[in-house]
Amino acid sequence: MGSDSLGKNSKYIEIVNLRHFYPIKRGIFRRVVGHVKAVNDVSFDIRGGETLGLVGESGCGKTTVGRAILRLIKPTAGEVRFKGVDVGVLQERDNTALRRGMQIIFQDPYGSLNPRMTVEDIIGEAPRYHGIVPRGELAGYVGEIMEKVGLRPESRTKYPHEFSGGQRQRIGIARVLAMKPEFVVCDEPVSALDVSIQSQVLNLLADLRSEFSLTYLFISHDLSVVRHISDRVAVLYLGRMVEIAPKESFFERPMHPYSQALISAIPSPSPDTPKNRIMLEGDVPSPINPPDGCIFSTRCPKAMPRCASESPHLAERTGSGDGHMVACFLYE
Ligand code: SF4
Repeated sequence: MGSDSLGKNSKYIEIVNLRHFYPIKRGIFRRVVGHVKAVNDVSFDIRGGETLGLVGESGCGKTTVGRAILRLIKPTAGEVRFKGVDVGVLQERDNTALRRGMQIIFQDPYGSLNPRMTVEDIIGEAPRYHGIVPRGELAGYVGEIMEKVGLRPESRTKYPHEFSGGQRQRIGIARVLAMKPEFVVCDEPVSALDVSIQSQVLNLLADLRSEFSLTYLFISHDLSVVRHISDRVAVLYLGRMVEIAPKESFFERPMHPYSQALISAIPSPSPDTPKNRIMLEGDVPSPINPPDGCIFSTRCPKAMPRCASESPHLAERTGSGDGHMVACFLYE
């Protein structure tokens, strides 16, 4: 399951100049009067076997990135390559293979499960449709997958409402795992769960990644969660990527002023440990009319005159060669 001939450092998924603009329509003729620039010229790689955490505040475009990679929405522009193949072309040619290899775990485990289907049918429906296992072996296969995610196979005839929130997310994970995926977008998979359950589900996802050589894009607004599970961290602000780095480098030496503010807001494990929280002024600007120059310039405590008119590029600035990249004039 999930076998990958690519090395860990290969460009397993490549996102190149991805844009997604939602049209704003008004009037009886539904004329397009503007666009919500949800994702604006984003490029990054995901390496085979890694977990890349994608963070940012609500509305920053991270879910749109995840859905555009999986082609659940058609991006306005840009390219996504899965093991060197353009996903847009792959979708037209062989949608089945695409769907099987690339899967998504949703935030709301209850909303994403059909309440009228038993767990056995929920997990077994897609493998049956795609012929993942012979029909005669499907029941045994579903039982195996249930055990892998920590569910008792005896509960296969139950319905989603008979399970707890954490168990329902395990059903959602089992449904994805049953498709033998290689790459999984985890879209806020624990944010609807109690804190006490979150680490159990995170540990399960980490174990499954190791066992089945999976690659994750882990989308979250919660930096503590991202720190727990990710190998690298990417930060989005208002549809643009402002920093991407190995986890250790990111949390020890965050470079972008926005990342520094996000990290300063992580609650301290001990109430006695003083925190120098960086408070950002103002609201996040509208993605319909984002600021000129640096996207963060209207809220940045370190903004300089040029930041209002010039846009910094994402580039490696540390000189360490560890791939820590930032889009900020402070490091030029
Ligand atoms: Fe702040 Fe300027 Fe850096 Fe943007 S480029 S983050 S406004 S200092």
